[in-house]
Amino acid sequence: MRETSRTAFDIDELGEGDSPHEECGVFGVWAPGRDVSRITYFALRALQHRGQESAGIAVGDGSTVLVRKDLGLVDAVFTDADISAMRGKVAIGHVRYGTSGARSWEAAQPHLSTISEVIIALAHNGTLVNSDSLRASLVELGVPFRSNTDSEVAAKLIGHYTKETSHLRQGIAKAMGMIEGGYAMALVRENALYAFRDPNGIRPLVLGRLGDDGWVVASETCALDIVGADYVREVAPGEIIRVSDDGLVSERGVPARVPASCIFEEVYFSRPDSVVMGKSVYSMRFDMGRQLAREAPAEADLVIGVPDSGLPPAEGFARELGIPFGEGFVKNRYVARTFIQPTQEQRSLGVRLKLNALRDNVAGKRVVMVDDSIVRGTTSKQIVQMLRDAGAREVHVRINCPEVRWPCFYGIDTDVQSQLISASKGVEQVREFIGADSLAFLSLAGLRQCVPSTGWCCACYDGWYPVRIPQSFAQGKFMEGYRPGGPEE
Ligand code: SF4
Repeated sequence: MRETSRTAFDIDELGEGDSPHEECGVFGVWAPGRDVSRITYFALRALQHRGQESAGIAVGDGSTVLVRKDLGLVDAVFTDADISAMRGKVAIGHVRYGTSGARSWEAAQPHLSTISEVIIALAHNGTLVNSDSLRASLVELGVPFRSNTDSEVAAKLIGHYTKETSHLRQGIAKAMGMIEGGYAMALVRENALYAFRDPNGIRPLVLGRLGDDGWVVASETCALDIVGADYVREVAPGEIIRVSDDGLVSERGVPARVPASCIFEEVYFSRPDSVVMGKSVYSMRFDMGRQLAREAPAEADLVIGVPDSGLPPAEGFARELGIPFGEGFVKNRYVARTFIQPTQEQRSLGVRLKLNALRDNVAGKRVVMVDDSIVRGTTSKQIVQMLRDAGAREVHVRINCPEVRWPCFYGIDTDVQSQLISASKGVEQVREFIGADSLAFLSLAGLRQCVPSTGWCCACYDGWYPVRIPQSFAQGKFMEGYRPGGPEE
């Protein structure tokens, strides 16, 4: 067993804005005879948009598991020599976005755990809503913890039940029966890969084929493309997949529940070249723009999108109304995370560090600006002002999803409800706050028309939570008078 680290440094949130954040991407590969750590490295590069705080790879070399992880972007964490030193036929990888309380090397993934003589490493995307009570039970049993993450709780729980049953797959199944929330996980031991997903299928996980005898799992299909794997299917909600010398085995970990894939993946998080249930995220967003134009047209000279996820719906909006579509902003792609503390003066520049208006295109024009969401409203306000400063005559804001009124508990870092501007303000009040000439949101019915017909979690829009939120976890997250909906007990 070996865990290595180079440096740990403070990470500042400069340039993050008030957009919601994804909390991780996972990848796993079984491919005897291939350079699995290099394959994982490139897959993580494709999934980098899902988390920029830390990155890690764990490789099973036949006798043990090696992990390398660190704070920073994938290409900063791994050198060519690091990758070359990690040899084996099975690997998993992880990129992480974490909340401020958990920014540490210990919180970076994959998490290593020892179960009797067996070493495992776990990579997790999502949030477990009952991790506090599970952690307390494990601590009572004398299980030690190195971080305050729910991912470590999952790893330790799997270890506990594997010891009890003397069987890793049964240990995973028992743990899945205990944990609640949205999760997609990849786990590696010295000679096998495991992948499993929450019973509602909230967080995404797909299965792909690599050559004749290789298999991969990934948060998104864009990671399959970059490693040359073919999409096979989604990992089913509640399913456990195991790949080893005996081939691929699928079994049910827990019974599937009402399907509830996170619809915000299609609106905002997933890469546009990823495909979900046969439809590309790009075409879903394009259709959202068209639908938005039908629901809330505007008279304008130019339609622009806020990069990156606002671009396809802006294109669709423009196409539907026959208005020219053009670039309105230049995005600085290198400020996602910085290790240099900004001055107070630089902080006040806020979003300008990340985005700047293209004066040549917008000056003197009536502009429709399409964006993917309004969370607190502060970023939208700055962007609208930026367009006005660049000479736009009118700024009409169109959002390709409904108003975000409820917090997420399943792996997306939105905010507590009181911080969500649409939880307490109507459309007209939000318009006034952000300083737009007009504002409209896509309806939930309209959004549903643009995505494949399956069950979706839309809780951040409609307050119907497919997995019940324990009182202790919900504490202080909802505003007074708001009662979240959900399935019967
Ligand atoms: S609450 Fe919203 S962001 Fe969270 S899983 Fe559901 S749809 Fe996704």
